[in-house]
Amino acid sequence: MKDRNFQDGKDKIIFLGTAGGRFSVFYQIRKSGGIWFHLGNKTFVIDPGPGALIHALKNKINMSKVDGVFLSHRHLDHCADINSIMESMVISGKHSKYLLAPSAALDEDPVVLQYNRDKFNILYLKEYTDYHIDGLTISTKLTHLHTTPAFGAVFKSSNYSFAYIADTLYTDKLAIDYKADVVIANTVFKNQMPGYMHLAANNMYAFLEIFKPKLLILTHFGMGFLNESPQLLAKEISEKTNTKVIAAWDNMIVNLKDV
Ligand SMILES: [Zn+2]
Repeated sequence: MKDRNFQDGKDKIIFLGTAGGRFSVFYQIRKSGGIWFHLGNKTFVIDPGPGALIHALKNKINMSKVDGVFLSHRHLDHCADINSIMESMVISGKHSKYLLAPSAALDEDPVVLQYNRDKFNILYLKEYTDYHIDGLTISTKLTHLHTTPAFGAVFKSSNYSFAYIADTLYTDKLAIDYKADVVIANTVFKNQMPGYMHLAANNMYAFLEIFKPKLLILTHFGMGFLNESPQLLAKEISEKTNTKVIAAWDNMIVNLKDV
């Protein structure tokens, strides 16, 4: 039985949600509780969308032991629970917590309450910047091509690395920048949709021609894509590219040593 929290101290990624886009998030066709990880002796949540706190508690994640929040951008499917998550991290009184977020989410149209910020080290996300947090290094890349400034990152310890590509249009630069053992891509659509600044799963063929990670994980699925079975497309991409590709499911756990 794999631990669906971090009590075993292992380096892992837990998907407490795999929904993306308005319909699958706000009808909760899939959950949207963020991507949680333990790496380099730090525990973080990426993009705590609606339900993140409830799903974390259901999985017995000890919130006082969560060290930080990485917010890619200010859209609600990524940030709706950020204030609840931040407050739950500091109620025990032990504070050495981190929030990494773009200025668009902190200043221009803030999604983080002012009173919630005092107990956090607030790190503004900037392009091509390394943030060192003890044994964990978070490296940003170019600002994503999205409707609001958005950032992905490569998360690295001395043992493992994974990349998170958030909401963006596809360019080949992604495959040059986001090199890691595991790559997580927010593929809202199966095929590119004109007028939407999101990745499509079929963009991953171009990505994999340039860089093949040990494991590519598709997530953040829109409703249209969910109706067309992301699992089948992941299998097809995997077979055609000779790369391990999976479509994430809610509560999926990836133990980094097994990748
Ligand atoms: Zn977005």
